[in-house]
This record gives sequence, C-alpha cells and structure tokens, in this order.
Amino acid sequence: MRSIRATTIIRRRWDNAMLPLSSKQVPHSVSSGAADRYDVIVVGLGTAGAIAAIAAARKGLSVLGIDRHTSMGGAGTAGGVVGYYFGTRGGLYEEIDAKVPATEKDVFTPAFGVNVEGKQYVFEREAALAGVDIRYETTVLGVKLEGRTVTGLEVFSARRGRYAVASGVVIDCTGNADICRLAGCELRGGREFDGQPQPFSNALFGFDKDRVRAFYTDSGYVFPENPDSMSAAIVNSALLSTHLKEQYNEENRFMRIAPQLGVRESQFIVGEDNVTLDRFLQEGYSREPLFMAYSNLDNHSKDVAFESGLQRDWTVAASLWGLKFTVPIPLGALIPRGYDGLLAAGRCLAVDHDMASCVRMKRDMQKCGEAAAYAAYLAVTKKVRLKEVPYAELSQLLRESGCLSERDEVYFEHRVAHGEQQSGPIRWMSDIREIREALSGTKPGVAIWSAKLLGEAIRPKLLGWMDRSEPEHLRKHSAMALALMGAAEAAPVLREMARERDPFVPLTSLKYNQARGYAAVYLLGRLADREAIPELIALLRTREGFSFIDANREFLSDETDLRFQYVSYALMALAAIGDRHEDARPVIAEAFEQYRQQLDGSLVISFKGSSEIRNVMDDKIRLLIGKTLQRWGTPVLKS
Ligand SMILES: Cc1cc2nc3c(=O)[nH]c(=O)nc-3n(C[C@H](O)[C@H](O)[C@H](O)COP(=O)(O)OP(=O)(O)OC[C@H]3O[C@@H](n4cnc5c(N)ncnc54)[C@H](O)[C@@H]3O)c2cc1C
Repeated sequence: MRSIRATTIIRRRWDNAMLPLSSKQVPHSVSSGAADRYDVIVVGLGTAGAIAAIAAARKGLSVLGIDRHTSMGGAGTAGGVVGYYFGTRGGLYEEIDAKVPATEKDVFTPAFGVNVEGKQYVFEREAALAGVDIRYETTVLGVKLEGRTVTGLEVFSARRGRYAVASGVVIDCTGNADICRLAGCELRGGREFDGQPQPFSNALFGFDKDRVRAFYTDSGYVFPENPDSMSAAIVNSALLSTHLKEQYNEENRFMRIAPQLGVRESQFIVGEDNVTLDRFLQEGYSREPLFMAYSNLDNHSKDVAFESGLQRDWTVAASLWGLKFTVPIPLGALIPRGYDGLLAAGRCLAVDHDMASCVRMKRDMQKCGEAAAYAAYLAVTKKVRLKEVPYAELSQLLRESGCLSERDEVYFEHRVAHGEQQSGPIRWMSDIREIREALSGTKPGVAIWSAKLLGEAIRPKLLGWMDRSEPEHLRKHSAMALALMGAAEAAPVLREMARERDPFVPLTSLKYNQARGYAAVYLLGRLADREAIPELIALLRTREGFSFIDANREFLSDETDLRFQYVSYALMALAAIGDRHEDARPVIAEAFEQYRQQLDGSLVISFKGSSEIRNVMDDKIRLLIGKTLQRWGTPVLKS
C-alpha cells in the first residue's frame, strides 16, 4: 500500500505539505521489531487510537501502534464515516484535519467530506514523524498480567508469529474492548431487553460526478464480539439491494464497499467511573472532565419499545430525540474497574447502551484517544497508577491542546430545525405560565420533561389542565407529563388518545418525533393501568386503522412500521400491567398466547435510510412473551 501510494505521488506535483519523508525523518515508521518494551502500546489505530499514538509519541514516550488492518483512522477512514456529527471542537484532531485538504489538492481524488486516503496519509506521516512504531496486520493474542496490572501483550502477525512486548500502559482502542476482554475485565453491551446494540451500516464509496462520495444506510444488527456474526454481517450487507443497485451511470458510479464494517456499538468496559444516561440525567456527572462529548441520543433502532424505560420516557413520551447535550467524560470512564496499566479509549469506554447513543461521535472519540495518551504519559513519567494521575496536571495538558476548555459546561440544546435560527442552550422550565404555553403548542417536549422534573410543585396545575374545557394539546400533553410522574389520574386521557390512535406528531425534535397515539399506549403501561387492558388487547387483534403518519416519515416508512409501534407498546404495556396486577395475568397471558400463535412474519420494521430492508420482528415478540410468562410462572407453550 505504501509503495503504490509513493508511485502515484511521484508522478504529480508536490507542495511542502506532501513531501515524502526521507528515511531520516522516519525513525520508526516501519518497526524494526527490536524493541521489546514500550511506554505505551496502542491497540487499534482507528479514530481514537491514531490520535492516542501520535499524542503519546509527541510527549516523548516510546509508542507501539498495532492494527489488524493496513491503515490508520478506522471507522473515520476505512469505515467510510467521512462526516462529523456534532462532537466538541478542539484538540489534536483539528491539527490533523487541517492538514488533509492539502493532500486532496495535489494528490488524492477530491471527495465529499473527509478525504479518506488523505487522512490516512496524514495520520501515518504524523505518527512516523512523532516516532510511533506502527505494526499493521498485527493483533493481540494475550495480555500479561501481574495481579490486575497489565504489563505487556502477546502479539501476533502471520509472518512473524507470536511474540511478547512489555508495556508501561496499554491503550485499548479496538472499539470492541478486545484487549480488556483478554485481560478479563468486566464488560457490558447492548440493551437490557435482548442485548441488542444499535444497527450497523456497511458504507459504500461511489463516484459522484468528479468526487468520491461515501454513503451508508442501516443494514441490520451485528455482535462484533462474535466472529460469525461479524462475517455474516459483512457478507450479507454487501449483497443488499441498497448496496449493489441495478443501475449506475457515468455520473454516479459504484467504486467499492468500505473495508471496515460500520459498527456503531459493541462492548463497553465497566469502568472505575461509569457514564450512564440515568446517572447523567440525575445530574450525577463528573466535575473533572477530560473532554466533553456532545450529541443527541442518536439511537437508530426503531423498536424503541424494547429500549430502556428512560430512553422511552425521553424519546417516546417527550419526543426529545433531537435534544443535544454535553457530557463530561472523566478519567475513570477510561480505566477498567480494578485494573491498572490498561486504558480503554474510543467507543468502548465506560458508558451504557443508552449513553452510547450520544457518546461515540468521531470528534469526541478522537479527543478520547488524546486524553488517554496524556493520562498514560503522566502515569509513566510520574510512576503512578492510572487512577492516581493528578487531575490538575492532566487537565492542564488537555487545556493546552484545546481538548478541554475553561468554558466547558453541561448544557442541553435544541437541534436546529430546518429554517430556524440556532436556539442556543435551553434550560428546563420552572415558570408555570411558560410551561402551560409550551404544553399548549406543537413542541411540548421540553415542557413535558420540565414538568416531570418539577414533580409535585406542578402536579395540581397539570391535573386541572386535563379538563375537557382546556385546549386539546394542553389536555393531552399535561396527561403525558403526569404519566411521567406516575400519576394514575392521567390514564383516562391517555386511554382516549390510544383509542383514537391519535395521529398527532409533535415537532419538538427535528426528526424522530413520536406519534401521540402510541406514546399514550406506552404511558398506559408505565402507569400499569388495568382499565386499558381491553383496549390494548384490541390493538393486538386488528390490522386495520394504522393510517400512515406522513409528518413522521424519517421514523416511520409506512403503515407497517406504524402498526409495529402500536403492537410493541401494547405488548410491553400489557406485560407491565400484569407485573403490577397479578389477577390480570390470566387474561393477558391468554391474549399473549393467541398473539404468539398468529405470528406470521408480517410484523416488520424498516431500518433508518433503508425502507426496503425489513426486519421481521417475530422473534423479538416471542422473546417478550416468553420472558413475561416465565416471570409470572405461567407455563410457556412451544410454538
Ligand atoms: C455507520 C456509522 C456511521 C457513523 N456516523 C457518524 C457521523 O456521521 N459522525 C460522527 O461523528 N460519528 C459517526 N459515527 C460514530 C463514529 O464513527 C465511531 O463511533 C467512532 O469512529 C469509533 O471510533 P473508535 O476509535 O472507537 O473505533 P474505530 O475507528 O473503528 O477504530 C478501531 C480500530 O481498531 C482496529 N482493531 C479492532 N480490533 C482490533 C484487534 N483485535 N487488533 C488490532 N486492531 C484492532 C480496527 O482495525 C480499527 O482501526 C458513525 C459510526 C458508524 C459505524
């Protein structure tokens, strides 16, 4: 790869930014393999790892960088993820990015978004100049431990075989926590209901007029810790109609499928500190951030009924999918619990499935790599445990690089809706008149959540606002806010909304707003409202009346998608009601059994951006029914 690139380069005009490196300038770019001890070993030279290796080497540490592939940049280059989606600014990645356009000017074919070859080249050049020993086509077979301190790795490449390398600190940037798994660290992944992570995508590169374009749509689910699952995902998604279309033309040509599968989520470490959504929303976040992550809860899954209660409250009841927020990431979220000599940087840091929807964006993962490098630097030079790295010195280094800023703070912000001015940070409301006004409008989400936070202080008002004499939006949104507080008085209004399959879709978020009808079904389950049982069972028994809600097109493709939302929330609601009311279980169990017998593959949902790919949901429904009946001790019939 390197020699092909050199040949291409020589034929073209050079500017200083693109001068090839002389052998003197590249002291370690191709490893001699002589060293058997490094201050830092970075495994995985992707989004986080490329930056980690360069940052650590620039601090004067000896650094070995290992990757199973043959390039740097991971998801952001070989994976075809060429755009930035939110994330916070500042840090070494901006310096790297600023050097990429020059490569496009003279050498590489222009591209939309980041130029993949250009960024790989800049990463390799900066790593070489900093003195990183890079070993491609190499991976790790084992971890050397002294107690729970990682002191080295057993490394493998096909041509060299296996060999040992000692380390000061190992930084696991594999995205999948592969090294942490080998070390025996505690890991977690996926959502509680079924362990399902977010959907993956398999990016394509095409040629659009005169530029390279990378694009992707969601293709299915993959469990990266399972090699069979990975292989099947790579092969199957490459064969999808979304990938190899029937027609291409001169202006729109297919080039190749990205060599790295687009995995959004796999395993996370359980850290010394864990950044969970639940904890974050209760304002339990760190005051000692290494960097701030920034995004909305960008969960691509459409079977939200099976996500956590918190995510359903946020996304379904309040339609807050689009609300962005900053999340402080502490050092403890990079240290596997109970271990030393080992850090995890990149998307496998210590978050939970819910928070991983927000904390995974490229800018932030690059910062994560940089922060890990400075933590390793201080641990190695001061000879202290990673946990004992002094925050004052670490934050000083991060501020100097721009990774962290004095101004960084936690805030929530609306996505800018099409045609709207940036609204700036929002605050949760406390003024009763302001809440009433917002609940009366078409963007009630922030007011619904604010009311939930206010709790008893606003409850009497909300009860009054549900009166029939009040405007429709106010009545219904007040009921939704009350349901989030657990107020059973909201149930009659919610039943009315469920019965009429209220098609109103709020406009709180730019995308992924949820229809009020099935949000009401969800909330009836949250209240364990036994009077809703007949209505919920009726929902399971009909295929009629799910009229397509056009305003929600980004989330729902058609009536089939809509029907799944109603059915999945109805089943979850019935399960929740049965959990609370033991005497209701026989009726619900019978309805569940009937429904299970009728499953015929017609209950499907589409993937984001891939409406033609349909995910048959029968197995999920069987799982839900089976788990529920087992919990109740009801005999489970084999179907
Ligand atoms: C389809 C998709 C779309 C996305 N869209 C956006 C977007 O628009 N904007 C945005 O900001 N973010 C986006 N993201 C999120 C972001 O790209 C990723 O979360 C982030 O790049 C992950 O960085 P990472 O360093 O953890 O992993 P990666 O960048 O994947 O790096 C992992 C590296 O480790 C190597 N590796 C893995 N296992 C081993 C091993 N055992 N031994 C040796 N090497 C190994 C891999 O080869 C790779 O180089 C998207 C992600 C996906 C998948």
